[in-house]
Amino acid sequence: MVHEPRSNHALAERATAVFTPNYRPAELVIDRGEGCHVFDVEGRRYLDLISGIAVSALGHGHPRLVEAIAQQAGRVMHTSNLYLNEASIRLAERLVSGSLDRVYFCNSGAEANESAIKLARRHAWSRGDQDRVGIVSFTGSFHGRTFAALTATAQPKYHEGFHPLPAGFSYLEYGDTAALEAGVTTGTAAVIVEPIQGEGGVRVPPPGFLAAVRARCDEVGALLIFDEVQTGIGRTGTLYAHQHDGVVPDIMSLAKGIGGGLPLGAILARHEVAAALVPGTHATTYGGNPVACAAGAVVLDALQAPGFLEQVRAVGAQLAEGLRATGAFAEVRGRGLLIGAELGPEQPFDATAVVAEARSRGVLCHIAGARVLRLAPPLILGPDEAAEGLAALTVAVQAVQARGATS
Ligand SMILES: *Cc1c(COP(=O)(O)O)cnc(C)c1O
Repeated sequence: MVHEPRSNHALAERATAVFTPNYRPAELVIDRGEGCHVFDVEGRRYLDLISGIAVSALGHGHPRLVEAIAQQAGRVMHTSNLYLNEASIRLAERLVSGSLDRVYFCNSGAEANESAIKLARRHAWSRGDQDRVGIVSFTGSFHGRTFAALTATAQPKYHEGFHPLPAGFSYLEYGDTAALEAGVTTGTAAVIVEPIQGEGGVRVPPPGFLAAVRARCDEVGALLIFDEVQTGIGRTGTLYAHQHDGVVPDIMSLAKGIGGGLPLGAILARHEVAAALVPGTHATTYGGNPVACAAGAVVLDALQAPGFLEQVRAVGAQLAEGLRATGAFAEVRGRGLLIGAELGPEQPFDATAVVAEARSRGVLCHIAGARVLRLAPPLILGPDEAAEGLAALTVAVQAVQARGATS
């Protein structure tokens, strides 16, 4: 049998013929990965500065991660929640802290937020507070694509064509402390907020905003949910982004980086809150999957190794500084290895043009809204790789600028 040589183009055409058209993938078929690099089916090598959108925290093919996954897969791959498995117990023991001491495992960010929102309502209901159903979120947020998470996502473009949405959701301006008093009331079950907005443009809230949300929640008896799906698990240079502000939530959602590339989500909650999830109230078949949880333990091990988070902060600062030095961006923001670079208004092109140009020069990155270039590399990115990426990105930006100037 004769095999045709695999090409990005041929596979992309086959993909178009079989997949729903909801994604807009680049014509790039990733074949394998190694550390902070991936290779396409034609053997071309790319520096990965996006890690599957903040997922592949330890890069690709990390030996300890591969080993742990293979071992657990060989032992048992699925148990369901009819029974227990040790891998999920071990990971939960690692995740709990004094303030958030109960864990519910699920499979994705949307599912984690869906669970957090259900828990918040059920918590109010089980205390006899039946009118406390409101869920407050913020403009520019992104919480996922299932119905409650989608409704909490305060960006109209994601809602279009999906009405009617679940009731009880309302929206406030991200960063607007003055709006909290009227917008968060005794009818509010929970406020859900990203400590740094990821999809919404890598927006860091003004100092004191998260503390003000916490204070208002406490005043009216509402729960505070931090959506750390993108910002958690070391991404911003601390284990969780909310640690930069010293504000503790009642519930926190996690996903993306926590499984090191395997689908894994979780919520953490205080036990008084978690108590509302009595048997039968909520469930998911794959929750606490032992293979995903074994992977999660390796990710946490790596993060907690001495010097790891220091390097995340240092390399993040190096990338941000290098992007500023290009002079193409009005603002470079974020924390650790979650970086958004907003194009200045004078630039006659969008961030997608830079992403495409960078890709053609062997660097993978992404956008966060039309004008913002986003970097979220593997957390293991070293200073030399960061320098390699910056050199390519600088040339890419210059090439797009040069084209813009001649067209
Ligand atoms: C990606 C993301 C989600 C959704 O996660 P999925 O795994 O795609 O469902 C939710 N919240 C935030 C902050 C995210 O970045």
